[in-house]
Amino acid sequence: MAGIEIRGLSKFFRDGSRALEGVDLDVGDGELLVLVGPSGSGKTTLLRLIAGLDQPTAGTIRLSGSDLAGVPPQRRNAALVFQNLALYGHLSVADNLAFGQENKAESGTRKGAGGNDRVGQVAELLGIEHLLERYPAELSGGEQQRVALGRAIGRQPAALLLDEPLSSLDGPARRILRREVKRVQRQLGMPTIYVTHDQAEALALGDRIAVLDRGQLQQVASPHEVYHRPASRFVANFFGAQGMNLILGQLKHDGGLATFTSVGMAPQIPAALMNGVPEGPVVCGFRPEDAEYDYPSSSESDWVVESCSMDGDVTYVHLQPPSIVKQSTPITVRQATFIQEHRPPPPGTRYPLRLHVNRLHWFDATSGKRIPVLNLEA
Ligand code: ATP
Repeated sequence: MAGIEIRGLSKFFRDGSRALEGVDLDVGDGELLVLVGPSGSGKTTLLRLIAGLDQPTAGTIRLSGSDLAGVPPQRRNAALVFQNLALYGHLSVADNLAFGQENKAESGTRKGAGGNDRVGQVAELLGIEHLLERYPAELSGGEQQRVALGRAIGRQPAALLLDEPLSSLDGPARRILRREVKRVQRQLGMPTIYVTHDQAEALALGDRIAVLDRGQLQQVASPHEVYHRPASRFVANFFGAQGMNLILGQLKHDGGLATFTSVGMAPQIPAALMNGVPEGPVVCGFRPEDAEYDYPSSSESDWVVESCSMDGDVTYVHLQPPSIVKQSTPITVRQATFIQEHRPPPPGTRYPLRLHVNRLHWFDATSGKRIPVLNLEA
């Protein structure tokens, strides 16, 4: 397979800290792979190893089929764009774009060439033709990011490595440039790893997503798969504006029904939806949109509204179990559309909770790994 091939990659630092452990990862030609994980999970370390700025403790990296062991950074043909911009303040945009290209001395003639040369082509691709004569200090943050990206792709690298390239932007500028990155990457068709700690950005951008936690890959899959079939509790809770609700309880099979018992709930689930999920302690997961709470009630067995948080056209309602022994992590449900026009319920309101039993996820109580439902998933 062309593109980037990583096998058994580990990086331990001298002080004993383990930044990466046993990472296997392929990035196909033309693929945009988003590497996502919390702070300190090893994302930057992985990019630095591919770029040759650090040496691995173990494992191999191949780029376009060639082993990179011992190849110095400047000969690796992998362009790395850091979160902290590194534009040359004393050079114009055109010269920044030309920097690193083979015929840098010709950059003066490139400025006026209006799209007939490499600098012109890159500037056109990124929509910055009108900025070529300016200096970095005369650019907005978004424009600076475009120039940094342009300088990286101008070299026509075999791989593009982007380390939180949009982290200095927010709001509309970030959304627009995110779409631009995707468009430019598609057009160039080079294998690309895009690092972010933002789960929403990963879902929006990636052809596939690689999820890192404490130096280990948890799952590599499409955005649809990581959201709807997370491989572990960690992945389940990492994705989604509110993460997945995860509840420890006891499962018991009884003929055609299984019962999951936990504080404040005991849903009965058809056995066909529970094939292969063992009895005993297990973690049940459900997304806020996979549960509903019904009209207000006054039953002592119903859940209690702790607070609400609005997120655009949906409101999340955070609920505590019916009998609050001690304050626990609330579960979160999305306000159902049929009561959308109503104001968010005040704290203390009681609501019956209803789970969509065909959309539950199951995880091992010890390892945290997904338990696939036989015949449905495995
Ligand atoms: P962030 O999102 O905060 O940038 P990251 O996922 O990119 O984090 P890394 O920068 O790759 O994480 O760091 C991974 C782990 O390796 C961290 O625990 C970090 O403290 C450790 N680490 C990184 N560089 C070194 C170093 N030179 N010496 C010792 N430990 C290091």
